[in-house]
Amino acid sequence: MLTQLLIILSISLFTQNIDGLIKITEAHQPDGSIDLVAFNSGHCPYTVTLEAELSNVRSRVPLPATFTVFPEAEHQVLTSLIPDKNAKWSYRFKYSYQMGDLKSGKHDEEQLYLLPYEVGISKKFMQGPDGKFSHQGVNAYDFGMLEGSPVHAARDGIVVTVKEDSKNGCPQIECMKDANNILIWHKDGSFASYAHLQYQGSLVSTGDTVKAGDLIGLSGNTGWSSAPHLHFEVYLPQSQGRKTFPVQFLTQQGLLSELAVGREYQATTGGDRR
Ligand SMILES: [Zn+2]
Repeated sequence: MLTQLLIILSISLFTQNIDGLIKITEAHQPDGSIDLVAFNSGHCPYTVTLEAELSNVRSRVPLPATFTVFPEAEHQVLTSLIPDKNAKWSYRFKYSYQMGDLKSGKHDEEQLYLLPYEVGISKKFMQGPDGKFSHQGVNAYDFGMLEGSPVHAARDGIVVTVKEDSKNGCPQIECMKDANNILIWHKDGSFASYAHLQYQGSLVSTGDTVKAGDLIGLSGNTGWSSAPHLHFEVYLPQSQGRKTFPVQFLTQQGLLSELAVGREYQATTGGDRR
């Protein structure tokens, strides 16, 4: 019997270390079959693609196949391998995975978002969806914020990754990988990225539950950035890349589905509601 594992990690805009979060192990059953069991030690669903080379072995679920593996699932059987006991048999399997539920995740278009900073404070809106500096083809929002300014959650969710070890930033795309950021998973399956945080600028940890308005970090100027600011975007992972969404912000000036570049907007309370 031969088994082989190959894990391929997906890479996103902002560096996310998801190495080792998904493991598939073999559970040998009394009837001779072998269950392939997935463990997700992350904090959001992952989409797992499983493939195998089978010789005189049948898989209960035809392979290759794609599965959604839920967070902290203790024992999710993906398939069972059933060897032909009257023949020489072998199998090899490999899997890859990426963050998010690619099958059923979708963004709730009715969702309201808070501005991602302190209530009562105004910040200048620097760049919006499809902006010329770094948002071409991307629905993302940049707010001018001095380094060390409090960053607040725009929506309820669970912290899935945190990067805060970078001290580097520059106005060129090659610095993109150096952006500190907090990634939060929402219950509709979408994610929010809060990026360019200062060195050690996260005030939350992976697995934390946050409410809209909670203080989560301190802004900075790391990564691909020409001036201190916060980059905020909401997206769904795709099999290749990601799909970003325009969102509506609840501000002191009202509920706004578009923000004007150069204008200041004041944060208010009451988000994460329909
Ligand atoms: Zn940006």
